Amino acid sequence: MINRYIEQAEEQLKLLYKEIEEIAYFNQNKVLEAFQKNHIALRHFSGSSGYGYGDEGREKLNMLYASVFKAESAIVSPHIVSGTHALTIALFGLLKTGDKLLSITGMPYDTLQEVIQGNNNGSLKDYHIDFEKVELIDGKFDYANIRKALQDKKIQVIFIQRSRGYTWRDSLSQQEIKECIQYMRKLGFRGCILVDNCYGEFVEQTEPIENGADLAVGSCIKNIGGGLAESGGYIVGKRQYIDKVACRLTAPSIAGEVGSYIAGYRLFYQGLFLAPHIVMQTIKGSLLIGTCMQNLGYTTSPSVNKLPYDITRAIAFHTEEELIAFIQTVGEASPIDSFLKLEPWDMPGYDSKVIMAAGSFVQGASIELSADAPIRKPYIAYFQGGLTYEHCKCATHQILQKLLEKKYNVDSK
Ligand SMILES: *Cc1c(COP(=O)(O)O)cnc(C)c1O
Repeated sequence: MINRYIEQAEEQLKLLYKEIEEIAYFNQNKVLEAFQKNHIALRHFSGSSGYGYGDEGREKLNMLYASVFKAESAIVSPHIVSGTHALTIALFGLLKTGDKLLSITGMPYDTLQEVIQGNNNGSLKDYHIDFEKVELIDGKFDYANIRKALQDKKIQVIFIQRSRGYTWRDSLSQQEIKECIQYMRKLGFRGCILVDNCYGEFVEQTEPIENGADLAVGSCIKNIGGGLAESGGYIVGKRQYIDKVACRLTAPSIAGEVGSYIAGYRLFYQGLFLAPHIVMQTIKGSLLIGTCMQNLGYTTSPSVNKLPYDITRAIAFHTEEELIAFIQTVGEASPIDSFLKLEPWDMPGYDSKVIMAAGSFVQGASIELSADAPIRKPYIAYFQGGLTYEHCKCATHQILQKLLEKKYNVDSK
C-alpha cells in the first residue's frame, strides 16, 4: 500500500523531475567550465600549514567559486564555522558605527537575531549599527515600504534572505530578487546588497550576483558542498566588498593573504563538482515527500506542482506529538545515529526548543537528509537534503509507514 502511494506520487512528478534534471545539467556544465577555465590540478588539493602564504589550493578554490557565481572575487574557507559565521563576518566587514542594516525579507534567520540585536554580546547593535526590517507581504517584496525605508541615507547594507528559513513562505526566485534589486538601484541605492544564499545554490540556473547582488553568502555544508565538504562557508561578490570581509575573517593587515588547511581541499573541490547533481537529488526527494504528505491530507510548502526555489520543505502537522514523531522517523531513516531517540532541546541561537534529525556523515550538514522543527505553534517541520534520491525514497517509505501506523489525522484514501 505504501509502495502504491510512492508510485502514484512519482507518476505525478514525472514532468517536474525532467525540468529539474535540465537545471542540473545546465549547472553541471557551468561548474565543469569553471574547473577547466581555472586549470584546476591535483596539486590544488594538497594541505598547507602555518600561515598558508601562497597556498594555491586556497587561492584556486576562491577563484573557482568566483567563476561559478560570476563574481569578481570570493572567500571560501574551512575556517568559517557555519553559515551564520559567514554572514556575520560579511556584516561586520561592511558596516560601521552609525550605519544601518536594512532587511527587506523581514527578520533574518533565527541565528542572526543575536548577531544583529543582541545585548552586550558584540552584536551590531552593541556597535551602534542600526537595524530596520521590511516584512514580506504574502512572501513577496513590499515595494512601497522598501521605498520608504530607503529614504534613510544611513543604510549601507540591504539584506535579502533567499530561502524561507523557519517561516511559512515561498523562497524568493532569482527573477523576483533581480527585479527588486533593479528597483532599489533605480531609487538610487548605492550601498551593498547582500543575499543570504543558504539553501539556494544550484536550485535555479542563475545565482544572486548575476542578478545584481553585490555579495552572496552561504554555508559549505549545505548545497554547494555537495555533501562532501566537511565544514566551511563562503562569501562571493564585488572585490571591494570581499576585501573588507577578508579583513574581518582574518585581520586587517593580512586579509586574504593567509590561511592554511592541513587536511587539504579535495573535498571542497569534489563537493562543488557534485553539487548540481546532489541538489537535484535533494529537490526530487523534497517533491516526493511533499507530494506523498499532501496526498495524505497534510499541508506542505512550497507547492509540489512547480519548481521550488530552495531545497527546504515545510510540512504542517496538527499536533506537537505528530510533529515529533515525524522528525524522529527522519532520524530513524538516517544512516548515522538511527538508533537514537530524538528529543527537543534548547539549541544555542534559537529562542524556542528545537528538535533536529541530522543523522548525517558531516555533523549538522543539511544537504544530507535532515529535518528540524522549532517546538512552537503552528507545528511545522522543515525537511531538507538527501544525498541520493533513493535514500529520500527509503525515508519517505518509513515516514508514511509511521504515520499510517499511528493513524494520525491521516485521511487514508
Ligand atoms: C542555514 C541557514 C543559515 C546559517 O545557518 P548555519 O546553521 O549557521 O549554517 C542562514 N540563513 C539561512 C536562510 C539558512 O538556511
